[in-house]
Amino acid sequence: MEAPAGGVDDMTKLSYLHEPGVLENLKSRYELNEIYTYTGNILIAINPFQRLPHIYDGHMMQQYKGAPFGELSPHVFAVADVAYRNRAMVNEGKSNSILVSGESGAGKTETTKMLMRYLAYLGGRAATEGRTVEQQVLESNPVLEAFGNAKTVRNNNSSRFGKFVEIQFDKHGRISGAAIRTYLLERSRVCQVNDPERNYHCFYLLCAAPQEEIEKYKLDHPKTFHYLNQSKCFELVGVSDAHDYLATRRAMDIVGISAKEQEAIFRVVAAILHLGNIVFTKGKEVDSSVPKDEKAKFHLKTTAELLMCDAVALEDALCKRVMITPEEVIKRSLDPQSAAISRDGLAKTIYSRLFDWNFVMLHLCMNLYRLVDKINNSIGQDPTSKCLIGVLDIYGFESFKTNSFEQFCINFTNEKLQQHFNQHVFKMEQEEYTKEQINWSYIEFVDNQDVLDLIEKKPGGIIALLDEACMFPKSTHETFSNKLYQTFKSHKRFIKPKLSRTDFTISHYAGEVQYQSDQFLDKNKDYVVAEHQELLGASKCQFVAGLFPPPPEETSKSSKFSSIGSRFKLQLQSLMETLNSTEPHYIRCVKPNNLLKPAIFENVNIMQQLRCGGVLEAIRISCAGYPTRRAFFEFINRFGLLAPEALEGNYDEKVACQRIMEKKGLKGFQIGKTKVFLRAGQMAELDARRAEV
Ligand code: ATP
Ligand code: MG
Repeated sequence: MEAPAGGVDDMTKLSYLHEPGVLENLKSRYELNEIYTYTGNILIAINPFQRLPHIYDGHMMQQYKGAPFGELSPHVFAVADVAYRNRAMVNEGKSNSILVSGESGAGKTETTKMLMRYLAYLGGRAATEGRTVEQQVLESNPVLEAFGNAKTVRNNNSSRFGKFVEIQFDKHGRISGAAIRTYLLERSRVCQVNDPERNYHCFYLLCAAPQEEIEKYKLDHPKTFHYLNQSKCFELVGVSDAHDYLATRRAMDIVGISAKEQEAIFRVVAAILHLGNIVFTKGKEVDSSVPKDEKAKFHLKTTAELLMCDAVALEDALCKRVMITPEEVIKRSLDPQSAAISRDGLAKTIYSRLFDWNFVMLHLCMNLYRLVDKINNSIGQDPTSKCLIGVLDIYGFESFKTNSFEQFCINFTNEKLQQHFNQHVFKMEQEEYTKEQINWSYIEFVDNQDVLDLIEKKPGGIIALLDEACMFPKSTHETFSNKLYQTFKSHKRFIKPKLSRTDFTISHYAGEVQYQSDQFLDKNKDYVVAEHQELLGASKCQFVAGLFPPPPEETSKSSKFSSIGSRFKLQLQSLMETLNSTEPHYIRCVKPNNLLKPAIFENVNIMQQLRCGGVLEAIRISCAGYPTRRAFFEFINRFGLLAPEALEGNYDEKVACQRIMEKKGLKGFQIGKTKVFLRAGQMAELDARRAEV
């Protein structure tokens, strides 16, 4: 059978499955603005780079509500609808998760927002009094984006953190709470921006705030701030920072961040800008430093005012280090270069604490509301019926010309998610077929456990070796690299590049990536300089002091050391545990071109993304296997009416299922020990018959 003109909406319907066929199908659909295509249960979404009329409006939402999966054209709403309905099924009252992946600019965040809007639509309540949780859920997006998104070369609104949004439903299917977990914000951007990228949006928004605020925070055009003017890009086409500032403030209101807290948040944002303008020059003593000129002094004074700390103490914290030797405590001066590094370190720490606070706060606000709500409506509510739909929007695989610690962590995340995907699509399938004793010729797939071992094994993996190197004062990136070369000499997934003495290459599931190790040690260390901690912990502003709570008493040397890599690994572990307890649904976003323009479909580029996302493998397995399965009794409950005669008297469930399908002329299905296994599309066919009855 030839693919019909305009393509098929599910790749598993293609009769000849090869790469060109898959690509051709996607292309002909994309030309008709059909950006969504299924591969069995996986949704492929190709970024249209233009607003398509009506595809997300209220009418569309109405249509997808409760429609059987596969009946309407492929859509994000259909995926969310399945997740929502699974939640309601008595036997599958399991939590669900929707995993959205793809490279930067592929449309993950936009997709996530549509999913959230649709879930809010399904789980919204009619009550209009005050703010509702679903409104809060939706308005958390602009807040998150203001502080965690930035323009990059790949995307004008790139998320520089990962997020997992959990929406909780009560037993009536209404939203009862929400929480957001965020992962690994890119810190380096706060003080280092490459042309033509931008720093985090919030800095530009604040510079475009109403005059009153500009005066209060002593702000000016972004080009006057060192943290912003390293790049010549200040404005974004089609975006008004002034408008977005007000929108962000409104969103913060709705989410439940108080006016006082908002004031403190933006005061800290302004302080970071002034902090960056404190330039140092040599002081009188050897290797010492002082603010360079009157301007630098002004910014020092302003920073101290905004952070509500002592200006002299701030200067000291930036220009001096306390050294504790067995004999005495000495204050050592820093040279101008070290003072600038100290300053940037402080800026990064403050910003990342602010970001984390914001999102802890979002979580608290939303749950608080839930608590209040619960008290108000406590009658008839069952607190045990907790059902979640989680939506994951996390950075895709990255391989650039230079790849540092951030890429390492991002690609580690992707290995984890790929394993989850593998396990789900491949392992589970096969295990299930074996358990149910149905015929099945085993398809091989590439397991990536060995890459994960290389990265995270304890002891002996790269993260563990990096932590060791960070704890040992004499380590350099050379000694660290040498240790890696020795340890993984014969590891299949580890390569020492011929022309470098400090780079290393990992052979990831999606391809080889060569990492530059020179900043790994610095970027992995997660300590706040004691002087900075002391300075801000003593701030007269409760909010600022709260960002720097006293560190826990140190018990041993190893507990004192905290590393970004290890903490991230733990966060990922906990995310995987959550995901493993849910029924996953996958959405693979694809970026059709690097120009970020509509209607351009770059074949090779897209093929590579499909390969990285495991889509091609999944197509193969979906077609070969039985994507839909139902326990006998469930199947009979649903389709018994198609062959009532099969259910007469004392019938055998297994035989009854067989009869129902034979009567409807289905072929190729299998009957297992406890379940019916259907080929792709057969469920929809039966549903259609059912609708006729
Ligand atoms: P990153 O990893 O950098 O955060 P991302 O995958 O989250 O990237 P998005 O920010 O969601 O990418 O999308 C990039 C841009 O593509 C959006 O700002 C928007 O202009 C456009 N876009 C994405 N999806 C759609 C859509 N469904 N309809 C219209 N435009 C879209
Ligand atoms: Mg994004």
